[in-house]
Amino acid sequence: MAAILIDGKAFAATVREKVAAHVARLKSDHGITPGLAVVLVGEDPASQVYVRSKGKQTVEVGMNSYEHKLEADTSESDLLALIDQLNNDPAVNGILVQLPLPGHLNEDLVINAIDPAKDVDGFHISNVGLLGTGQKSMVPCTPLGCLMMLRDHHGSLSGMDAVVIGRSNIVGKPMAQLLLGDSCTVTIAHSRTKDLPDVVRRADIVVAAVGRPQMVPGDWIKPGATVIDVGINRIDAPEKGEGKTRLVGDVDFDSAVQVAGAITPVPGGVGPMTIACLLANTVTACCRANGLEEPEGLTA
Ligand code: NAP
Repeated sequence: MAAILIDGKAFAATVREKVAAHVARLKSDHGITPGLAVVLVGEDPASQVYVRSKGKQTVEVGMNSYEHKLEADTSESDLLALIDQLNNDPAVNGILVQLPLPGHLNEDLVINAIDPAKDVDGFHISNVGLLGTGQKSMVPCTPLGCLMMLRDHHGSLSGMDAVVIGRSNIVGKPMAQLLLGDSCTVTIAHSRTKDLPDVVRRADIVVAAVGRPQMVPGDWIKPGATVIDVGINRIDAPEKGEGKTRLVGDVDFDSAVQVAGAITPVPGGVGPMTIACLLANTVTACCRANGLEEPEGLTA
């Protein structure tokens, strides 16, 4: 029987509705409008698309969006000066520096210059440490979106076997921490993992964050398992016409959907949740900054 589709697009719309409702309450009850500042250095086309989309969705939920577009050759000291200015601006509750940065800029230095309370990407070393020790933190958006969908589908994740394929700082590692926080038994697999198919076959929950198109076939999936496909890969699609491409995940959807209990599609799964969680993090940061109660269900 084919798996249940976990509709990230629809779920993201409900997250944005919750954020918008909370923003409206912050405005009416406290006269506060949350603000998100996005910093883009250079002209990477994919980054430009992401930044535009983030700005548009920020405004749509009623928050203020501040876009800072800097030249590709901006110096580290100028970028750090801007971050310092945003750290000290009370109208800004969230700061996101779009990655990757041009090669002459030290990403770790730049990210760690952001006030951790405004670090809505959750990449600051303080937030990484807080998440790792089970304390209140800003949680990276993509894994937060995956967790929200898993909780929505399963209710409790306690005691489930979870395998996260990928150990990046932005997806794999924080995803594993979040699953551990929800009392899963977690395995983190990576390029050196032995017998990956066998490791994946043990999992009740598989999160694939590899960046290799359709790498995980259906016969690696335990029947009935829940599959969260984080991968976004563009491949040739000659069936659509010459030179055409299409997006696929890290999971071979057509075979996995026959075996899994539930699965996220690509596109329309994890992707739309990421920006929704960025908006959720911004409203959470705003509530914390103002000593106000946080909205329910918008963080880990
Ligand atoms: P990354 O930094 O390149 O990390 C990839 C991970 O996959 C690494 O840990 C690597 O292992 C592991 N890996 C590579 N080949 C493998 C193999 N053959 N078997 C097992 N593990 C293997 O990538 P990322 O930033 O985490 O992103 C992963 C994917 O998610 C990409 O497709 C990216 O586009 C997508 N993504 C989507 C969203 C979204 O919003 N939906 C957000 C972020 C990323 P080693 O550490 O051993 O090299």
